[in-house]
Amino acid sequence: MLCRQCEETVVGTGCTKNGVCGKTAEIAEKQDLLIGTLIELAASDHVCIHMGERLSEGLFMTLSNTNFDGERFDNIRNRITKTLGLKDVRVKCITDLDTDDDLRSLKELLLYGLKGLAAYYHHARVLGYTDGSIEKFMRKGLASMVENKTAEELVALNMECGAVGATCLALLDKANTETFGTPGIATVSTGVRDNPAILVTGHDLNDLRQILEQTQGTGIDVYTNGEMLVANSYPELRKYGNLVGNYGGAWYSQREEFESFNGPIVATTNSVLTPKESYKDRLFTTGPAGIPGVEHIGMVDGKKDFSKVIELAKKCQPPTKIDDTELTIGFGHSQVLALADKIVDAVKSGAIRRFVVMAGCDGREKGRTYYREFAESLPKDTVILTAGCAKYRFNKLDLGDIGGIPRVIDAGQCNDCYSLVVIANALAEAFGTDVNGLPLSFNISWYEQKAVLVLLTLLNLGVKNIMLGPRLPAFITPNILKVLVDTFGIKANGDVRTDMVTLNIE
Ligand code: SF4
Repeated sequence: MLCRQCEETVVGTGCTKNGVCGKTAEIAEKQDLLIGTLIELAASDHVCIHMGERLSEGLFMTLSNTNFDGERFDNIRNRITKTLGLKDVRVKCITDLDTDDDLRSLKELLLYGLKGLAAYYHHARVLGYTDGSIEKFMRKGLASMVENKTAEELVALNMECGAVGATCLALLDKANTETFGTPGIATVSTGVRDNPAILVTGHDLNDLRQILEQTQGTGIDVYTNGEMLVANSYPELRKYGNLVGNYGGAWYSQREEFESFNGPIVATTNSVLTPKESYKDRLFTTGPAGIPGVEHIGMVDGKKDFSKVIELAKKCQPPTKIDDTELTIGFGHSQVLALADKIVDAVKSGAIRRFVVMAGCDGREKGRTYYREFAESLPKDTVILTAGCAKYRFNKLDLGDIGGIPRVIDAGQCNDCYSLVVIANALAEAFGTDVNGLPLSFNISWYEQKAVLVLLTLLNLGVKNIMLGPRLPAFITPNILKVLVDTFGIKANGDVRTDMVTLNIE
């Protein structure tokens, strides 16, 4: 195997024996073969109204920490192989993408951007929001993996992926807002109640809604975990009295937190780890997520039946308390833009000197304490704009506020980086400049492929001088890195003090 699609890949070069994430060589091979098959499907002249769904589902399942169930990969691959009458695939692993290292690097960047795109598109699609241009690009991008492309053509395709990413993030924002209402500022308890409960993790708000509907009148509480935290800010989800709070932190703490939760856990998307035996029989997967030996809840006639989860919850002990504080969330673009005049005044008066976007995904390495240290070291006249699980490094710090404007503005999940872009554009308009002319710095933390798509989106929007860490992607060659540095001013993070100076935050 050779997998280097995420930040924690072995020694920053590639997982070759087993994945740090728990992916075995056997699963890696099955994922690679599925990708190779999706590429053949995209490159074929096959006509199918479900093409967008097939491609996005397959790509999403291969995202880091999403699915470790070999049978699921085989099933999809066999279906496509049969449909196309395929004898073989041209891409069996990433080294087949191109013989030239730099071209392969650009193809990998695109492939991982496509995986991120597929994940966000999946969330919009399950809410009934689709866009033919996104599906068309997914097919075009995948097909390009087996085409002879120049470096210029591949750079252009990556930029196009960023442009389509912006369309997709806007579509998802619309889908979430029209379905669940405009997110409002909310305080969320991290404590526990004395009722049996279900924990919902991942990103799929639609799954959470179905669980909330099906638990009404059962006496079962429902808690969010990880990226699902944002659900507590949507009116159409908050209205359920048994959505009682958030349990636990970022995805990498789940082995301990799922154990102490005591009740069933439903993993809806990526960010699921191979479980400990102590809670494996309480874990369920749904959607793209999958773990061998863990019950998977599929969709039947557009609905999911969570009755088994609910029945199990009734027999379990209430969660054990691991925390007891409150988090303030829900600063989507509409809430922040409602504060726009106040924010503009605070910048003009000098009360706010700078905004720092500290968004993206979190990981488990020790070095990621950098982000907490960075947040703690920021001068008191700076404001952090965040989205994604990167915030778990600093969202429990008491950083205070500036004249009522909180110093940590949490827009939500990683896809809510779109909100941060809307906020930045509105500020740019208010100050008569572009995003790069604002007192705004980007110190982004990446882990998996959704972050790759967000990065391509930011680059396509013209955002320059993004600091990226804690390590640069292993799939970027020195030559391609030079292009990114020369064209976009991308920087690798280093130590907190030096980076403060580099980002103009003295
Ligand atoms: Fe390694 Fe990341 Fe790939 Fe897992 S997803 S095998 S940790 S590079």
